[in-house]
Amino acid sequence: MQIEFFGAAQEVTGSCHILRVGSGSTQRTVLLDCGMFQGKRSESREKNKRLPVPIDDIDAVILSHAHIDHAGRLPYLVARGYTGTIWATAATRDLCAIMLADSAHIQEKDAEYLARHRDEIIEPLYRMEDATRTQERMVGMPYNKWFDVTDGVRARFTEAGHILGSASVVVEVREGERLKRIIFSGDIGRAGLPIIRDPAPPEDGADVIICESTYGNRDHESVEGARDQLAKVVRDTAARGGRILIPAFAVGRTQELVYDLHTLRRDGKIPEIPIYIDSPLATNATAVFAMHPEAYDQNEELVRRSPNLFDFPMVSFTRDVSESKRLNSMHGPMIIIAASGMAESGRILHHLHYGASDPRNTILIVGFQAEHTLGRRIVEQRPTLRIFGDEVPLTAEVEVLNGYSAHADRSGLLSWLRDVRRHGERDGRGTPTVYLVHGEHSAQEAFATQLRGDGFRTEIPAAGTVVPV
Ligand SMILES: [Zn+2]
Ligand SMILES: [Zn+2]
Repeated sequence: MQIEFFGAAQEVTGSCHILRVGSGSTQRTVLLDCGMFQGKRSESREKNKRLPVPIDDIDAVILSHAHIDHAGRLPYLVARGYTGTIWATAATRDLCAIMLADSAHIQEKDAEYLARHRDEIIEPLYRMEDATRTQERMVGMPYNKWFDVTDGVRARFTEAGHILGSASVVVEVREGERLKRIIFSGDIGRAGLPIIRDPAPPEDGADVIICESTYGNRDHESVEGARDQLAKVVRDTAARGGRILIPAFAVGRTQELVYDLHTLRRDGKIPEIPIYIDSPLATNATAVFAMHPEAYDQNEELVRRSPNLFDFPMVSFTRDVSESKRLNSMHGPMIIIAASGMAESGRILHHLHYGASDPRNTILIVGFQAEHTLGRRIVEQRPTLRIFGDEVPLTAEVEVLNGYSAHADRSGLLSWLRDVRRHGERDGRGTPTVYLVHGEHSAQEAFATQLRGDGFRTEIPAAGTVVPV
């Protein structure tokens, strides 16, 4: 068999790897992920239109998790005629229902915008009906249960601890007498993240590991530290009578924050002030979270004790825009969590437009902010922010919490890989070859050097690289 690296190869987005099993007329092709390339619009549009293999050749797709850089092109496969199965965990399948619909909506709106303002006629990558049809192709599987993917190929999901439903994928391939095992890490999360379980490195052992390397060159601050900082920000801002404005990704980060605020309130560490979740996608995602208690971490006290993690007296979910705007005329301390995560679009813009110039308020940054985004300019504490064409003075406090990252850091990735190697050695397998994907150049190089020092054969494949297994 062979692996061809197609996306997230020497970059972070567009996750997609091609497994080819057997040869000639009996060859089978399985895709691991089919994610969206993100970045500069014109470049990524071209990349997103390129199919990894001809549609008729694809026998099955296995999806690690619902993030758009992993799942975002599934509707494009379906739009182009894919009628096979897409395997995922049950929670991933349900998150995809809302996230792919949201993505389709963005594609349609983008195409409309370009037609109206730039006279550019582009066909959206896919439409809402393609996202809906994608859902019909998805089969939700429990964790840790083998399923037959196609002739000679079976797989199972193990907990990746990154977002709800996230999985690493163990693929077992039989070619004649040969049995090979490939482990695809997906995105690996961190121990101690709210709600979801900790990553559980597969106990199967492997010949080859395809491993993410997003933070292969750095270690994070602790999750516990972030929770304490969150409490302090809420207390201090409430004491000033201000509001806490939090730009946050609607899926994952928002639910984690609500959960942590719930915990802090129960423990009496923050005052009782209203919390508004001002994002329709976040509201829908929270409903999906509530549907999947099987994916929660039963070691966490709130999970064990509270029948409803996201519904407590302080919290409300706003649906329509008028409700959202009404928040501006309200007085007293409050917390507003709204998308987008980098404050580039979405309802957070209204709240920043209104609240960034009030020194009683705090803008709380809880995630990575890419260059050239409004979120980044807030982190840099620029004197003014340009929002809706206005120059708004930035006189609110700015606080940055780095401890909420959903990705394993260097130490986490290394210990995950060592665990997988140890399991393999127990079964008499040699040290697996590691192919690093899903990382920027500097992170990949640094991590590869570290892994080689630790005895792993390690490669950083470029897109198009084919390796035999
Ligand atoms: Zn992810
Ligand atoms: Zn990713």
